[in-house]
Amino acid sequence: MSETFDYDLFVIGAGSGGVRAARIAAQHGAKVAIAEEHRVGGTCVIRGCVPKKLMVYAAGFADHFEDAAGYGWSHAGATFDWARLIANKDHEIDRLNAIYINNLVKAGVELFMCRATVKGPHAVRIEAEDRVVSARVVLVATGGYPSTDETLPGHELAISSNEVFYLERQPKRIAIAGGGYIAVEFAGIFNGLGTDTTLVYRRDEILRGFDHEARTLIRQEMEARGVKFVFHDIFTELARQEDGAIRASLRSGRTLTVDEVMFAIGRRPATKGLGLEAAGVELGAGGAVLVDEHSRSSVPSIYAVGDVTDRVNLTPVAIREGHAFADTVFGGKKVVVDHRLVPSAVFSQPEFGTVGLTEEEAAAEGDVDVYSATFRPMLATLSGRHEKMLMKVLVEPKSDKVLGVHVVGHGAGELAQVLGIAVKMGATKSDFDATMAVHPTAAEELVTMRTPARRLRREAA
Ligand code: NDP
Repeated sequence: MSETFDYDLFVIGAGSGGVRAARIAAQHGAKVAIAEEHRVGGTCVIRGCVPKKLMVYAAGFADHFEDAAGYGWSHAGATFDWARLIANKDHEIDRLNAIYINNLVKAGVELFMCRATVKGPHAVRIEAEDRVVSARVVLVATGGYPSTDETLPGHELAISSNEVFYLERQPKRIAIAGGGYIAVEFAGIFNGLGTDTTLVYRRDEILRGFDHEARTLIRQEMEARGVKFVFHDIFTELARQEDGAIRASLRSGRTLTVDEVMFAIGRRPATKGLGLEAAGVELGAGGAVLVDEHSRSSVPSIYAVGDVTDRVNLTPVAIREGHAFADTVFGGKKVVVDHRLVPSAVFSQPEFGTVGLTEEEAAAEGDVDVYSATFRPMLATLSGRHEKMLMKVLVEPKSDKVLGVHVVGHGAGELAQVLGIAVKMGATKSDFDATMAVHPTAAEELVTMRTPARRLRREAA
């Protein structure tokens, strides 16, 4: 190539996808720079999956304490200290942030701790230094940001998942808007930690898009733990009262008096002000960068990975996309990420692990045998705590192929990882049946269910 550039690769955004792409490209011998305007690690590490999971663990002790009594333990006097949890969480996030920075440095990646924008197909402006550098390839890995409803009077009183990790005080009462991953996970966290928690959702059941039987059980179990649900409703106004509380008015005419209102109504691709459109990059309706199977945008030298492309918005997917990009563009090995059959978990309480089709999707596609067991897990027997688990396997009768597996209960996320392998490999129900049970576990249900709970058949045309 006759042209010379300051860098082979300039990555904008040092989150999961950007960091992986930068490191792998550098390992392939590329001269790489990365810019991050907030903190290295991105949403997942700094204000997403990782701190969320730590808070889920904290909230889970409520169940453990309750279970403990039936097993002979006395836990009288257990108290919870929000400030200690937040400080310890911050300490852990600082440690991970340092590891991420160190890994970039070790890989020889030049790090700019400031905003960077696109100035052309090969030009990136480093905002803090007021200069433009050139790069043969630019990778946009800026992730997403929480949606807000700016038309809502008083919306500025509400927090999002950006602020929730840094609250100085634990709210005594919280109202959470939304029915997706974040709303459900934080409803479980706050409720478990003793906050009076109300989830307000505009439709009739949480976790739209997931298996209906699983969604229903999760909501029932959350209700049994104390979470209040308001369905078919949305906020119409938030106002600060004299006593400092927030008065939240709902469309139904109902009002909630709470200490915090949290919006968890989705996330948007972070492309605003990045200069992409001016550089010729085509964006989708929500502002997502439109890319091909190699994460290449409409401008051949500009690529994008992770949530900014709004494909499957999960950390491991962003990491895979970043790695595949680096291998393809700098490693001489074309890699295409398979976005099908991505297992995932919702760290609700109870936890939810899932892979493949839901019962509703499977039934819409064709015949399906539904193997489903809802039962009280052994742990809850001595404790006497009300708790139900769900193990569900969806099978296509003709091929015997397992189309989807859904688990609600302890360890469901861990199970989803392993079930993901089986389903991805194309396992059949006979393969499940031929696998010896691990006893006594809850998961043994997955290989011992012999009779379908339902046989759903499509009408013959
Ligand atoms: P989701 O897209 O999962 O859910 C958004 C929720 O907000 C839906 O219930 C939606 O309702 C509702 N909503 C949207 N707009 C409005 C509105 N204007 N007024 C009222 N309600 C509204 O988004 P989240 O914010 O929960 O999470 C964002 C993404 O982050 C997820 O899609 C996921 O990819 C990722 N994530 C993954 C996690 C994990 O893997 N465990 C954990 C947390 C986040 P409706 O159903 O009607 O559209």
